[in-house]
Amino acid sequence: MSERLVEVHDLFKWFPVQKSFVETLLARKLDYVRAVDGIDFEVRRGEVFGLAGESGSGKTTTGRLILRLIEPTRGEIFFDGTNILTMNDDEMRGLRQRMQLIFQDPYASLNPRMKIGAAIGHGLEIHDIAKGQGERDLVIQMMERVGLTPAATLYEKYPHQLSGGQRQRVVIARALILHPDLIVADEPIAMADVSVRALILHLMMELKEEFDLTYLFITHDLATAKYICDRIAIMYLGKIVESGPLREVYSHPQHPYTEALLSAVPVPNPRARREHIIPKGEIPSPINPPSGCRFHPRCPYAMEICSKDEPRFAGTEDGHLVACHLRR
Ligand code: SF4
Repeated sequence: MSERLVEVHDLFKWFPVQKSFVETLLARKLDYVRAVDGIDFEVRRGEVFGLAGESGSGKTTTGRLILRLIEPTRGEIFFDGTNILTMNDDEMRGLRQRMQLIFQDPYASLNPRMKIGAAIGHGLEIHDIAKGQGERDLVIQMMERVGLTPAATLYEKYPHQLSGGQRQRVVIARALILHPDLIVADEPIAMADVSVRALILHLMMELKEEFDLTYLFITHDLATAKYICDRIAIMYLGKIVESGPLREVYSHPQHPYTEALLSAVPVPNPRARREHIIPKGEIPSPINPPSGCRFHPRCPYAMEICSKDEPRFAGTEDGHLVACHLRR
C-alpha cells in the first residue's frame, strides 16, 4: 500500500470565458480563466493536507478536480496509485464511495424536500450497500456518532428545521456513511456560527482517527489550518507558491505571500506585537495573469527578474518547497 493516497501532476483547469455572440465574432481568440494553472502535490495516507489561499486562488477547483466532479484541461490525478482520468463511468462510480466531499454551504448542498435521514442514507442506496430497515439502522448509528441526537426525531426533519451546526453534522454524516478513504473538506466551518466551529473541527479530528480518514482541507483561514493540518500548500492565482510541513511553513515562511497571509493570523498573546503585512493592490485577473512571478505586482521584494522569469518550485529535502527568486 502506497504512502501516497493522492498524487497530482502538472494539473491545469482553464474555464472558457462566456461572451456575447458579437464579442465572440470580434474576438480573435477565446479567453480563459486559468483557475488551476500547473500544480503538483501529494496527499499522504492518514494526514490532513491543507490547501490554503484567498478566494479565487484555485483551491476549490482543485478539490473538485480531485473528486473528478469536473474534468481537467490537462494533467494527471492518481488515487491510490490509479490514474482516475483514465477510468470509465462505472469505475468512477465504484471509486466515488472512497472519496467524499464536505461542502462549504451545507444548506445549499442538501435537498430541501428530502428528510435528513433519507439524505444521509441516499449514498447507501446508490452504492447498493443497504436499504429499508438496514439503511435506517446504519443512518441512525451514524447520526448518533456525529452528535445528531435524538437521532430518531431528527431523522424525520427537513434541512430548514435544523440549526446551522446540525446541518454541518448532517453533511459530515452523509460523507462518512460510505466509509471513504479520502474526504475533501471545502471550507467546512466557514458557514458555521463561531460558537460551533471548534466543536465541528474537534468532531472531524475524532472521526479521522476512528474511521482512518485522510483529509484534503481547503481553507482561506490560516488560523484554522494551524490547528488541524499536518502539511500545507499555499495557492495564489492558480499556482502553488509554497508547500511543506505545517510547522516548518508557519515558523519559517519562504514566500512573501505566505509571509503576508501569516502576518494576519491572530496570536493568542494580546501583548505580542506583530507587523501586519498587506500586499500592494488587488489580486490580478486569472484571465490574464502577470508575467514571471504572478505575485510580482504586489510583492514588496520584487526584483527585475521577477516580472520576466517564472520562479521554479523547488526546495529542501524535508519537503519545504517554494517558488520565489529570493530563495535561489
Ligand atoms: Fe516577490 Fe520576486 Fe519572490 Fe515573486 S519571485 S515572490 S516577486 S521576490
